[in-house]
Amino acid sequence: MPVPKRQHSKSRTNKRAAGKHKILVLSNNCTVCKAFTQQHAVCQGCGFYKGVKILRTKDERAQERKIAKKMRENAMRSRKVASPAEARGEGTEGSEK
Ligand SMILES: [Zn+2]
Repeated sequence: MPVPKRQHSKSRTNKRAAGKHKILVLSNNCTVCKAFTQQHAVCQGCGFYKGVKILRTKDERAQERKIAKKMRENAMRSRKVASPAEARGEGTEGSEK
């Protein structure tokens, strides 16, 4: 089995380790919202890439969910309003007999 001739110096080890932790930071400003964005990536703030809408942002999705929830609640309310009248026999049951 091959054995290293001598121990690497701290300097040599640390130089190698320094390269591993180097992070390539390329940043750009979004053309739409002027926020800091990574190059060649969709802006996380507004969802635009090169002036074209690509992504729905977290806020937009939350708003859509709110609207959908309201519509569901309204539908449930309209059903609940209709059903008690039928249960009392004021509506369809009396006319059927
Ligand atoms: Zn943006």
